[in-house]
Amino acid sequence: MEHMHPEGVKRYVAAADEHLARRKAYRKKVRTLRFDTIAVHGMYSVEEAFAGGQGGIIEPIFPSTSQAYRDSDEMEAALAYLIPTWCYSRIHNPTVFYLEETLSLLEAYDCRADATALCTASGMSAVKQAVEPLLQKAGEGVEAINFVSAAQVYGGTFQLFNVRMRERGAHVRWVKEPWEMAEWEALTDEDTRFLYGEMPSNPQQACFDVEAVAKLAHDHGIPLIVDATVATPALLRPLSHGADIVIHSLTKTVGSGGGTVGGAIIARKPVVSGHLPEEAKDDYAMWLRLWPFRDSGPCMSPYSAFFLLNELRTLRIKMEWYSKNTMKVADFLADHPKVERVDYLGLEDHPLHDLASSYIRMVDSDIPTFGHLMSFNVRGTAADTRRFFDNLQRVFRATDLGRVKSVATIPAISTHLQQGEEGRRLAGVPPNMVRLCVGGEHPYDVIEDLDQALRKV
Ligand code: PLP
Repeated sequence: MEHMHPEGVKRYVAAADEHLARRKAYRKKVRTLRFDTIAVHGMYSVEEAFAGGQGGIIEPIFPSTSQAYRDSDEMEAALAYLIPTWCYSRIHNPTVFYLEETLSLLEAYDCRADATALCTASGMSAVKQAVEPLLQKAGEGVEAINFVSAAQVYGGTFQLFNVRMRERGAHVRWVKEPWEMAEWEALTDEDTRFLYGEMPSNPQQACFDVEAVAKLAHDHGIPLIVDATVATPALLRPLSHGADIVIHSLTKTVGSGGGTVGGAIIARKPVVSGHLPEEAKDDYAMWLRLWPFRDSGPCMSPYSAFFLLNELRTLRIKMEWYSKNTMKVADFLADHPKVERVDYLGLEDHPLHDLASSYIRMVDSDIPTFGHLMSFNVRGTAADTRRFFDNLQRVFRATDLGRVKSVATIPAISTHLQQGEEGRRLAGVPPNMVRLCVGGEHPYDVIEDLDQALRKV
């Protein structure tokens, strides 16, 4: 017999409905504001500040593990998911809520559909949580399940797809040249559960025609997932080009101060999928939170959310600053005799410059802007590349990117080490490739450091 809720529960539900209607109306208003205003305020209004924040002008940190209820009726309403609740910080938390609201508003900026977000402990947990439910039934005798992904993805994602997903019976099909539609089309069939790509990719700067790939996905009744970590919502909002789900490692440029690890899944309302239950399609991020995420626990700490909220407020201006610096460094490297090749989408002679320019643009302007990640190949051997690398004096050697401080790595011996030589060949990661993420230093000081290190080769 279906559980009948007591009258008291219904009273809580009625009060919550009023609260939700007010929040919905306010969100509608916020969606008409400009990008910077949304990034600065999100859903934390003056009224909200007085209602729950003692008038504090920034979103407060709520470190409490759990929420207390007034009585058993409120507890039942909350745990039956009849009213908004954060109940326990593994499921939700008010500080994390403010971050999720801001992120979903920024990703849905200039998009007709609205979106919801779920923050996670890291970027990798966002990728895993987003794709797992789409692969349900894999491993239960349904051998044919597959998903199609650009081969140029972050090393952790490559391993997750190639090793972990294969272990559970879901087979990744790699698109070697994702800028060519023919390969996506040839690999997608009735057993494909989703399409996946990074835009642009870390570290190769690969990109693809998001609108065409989204159309292909929807023609097959499946979602397109785009990891837009490198672009951030200041430069690219894949939902407005037809993608269903956006992934972010917030660890990177969004949190460019370098103080925390975090991730996010932002999903369009609704997502296209012939394989998810109806309620999951309508609000995928919320459904993930209430069911699979709750049962596996990769939640974000409220301290991280607080830090990331403050970082987000200045996102657009930081992207402008970092991108300008990176363009100068890329121009310098492109002319350097010790450099064999530079991959930065901002270089006009880069083969993907035109495709990238049609998607990656500074928000609220029409200016193609390409962010601060690039890669370049040192002329010579792997040993020459290490010599250059070991001689850097100002640029940090670290497996990191997106920082206000310039950071470099050799992907073949770090981020892309585990996928092996064949995997690196597939992903286009040669041993003489250096990944460089240019920060906020004066670009001439970065150039000086690169130049002295290149001279040692
Ligand atoms: N996606 C991209 C494009 C990345 O570059 C990374 C990490 O470098 C991740 C996802 C994983 O993020 P995290 O390190 O926060 O788990």
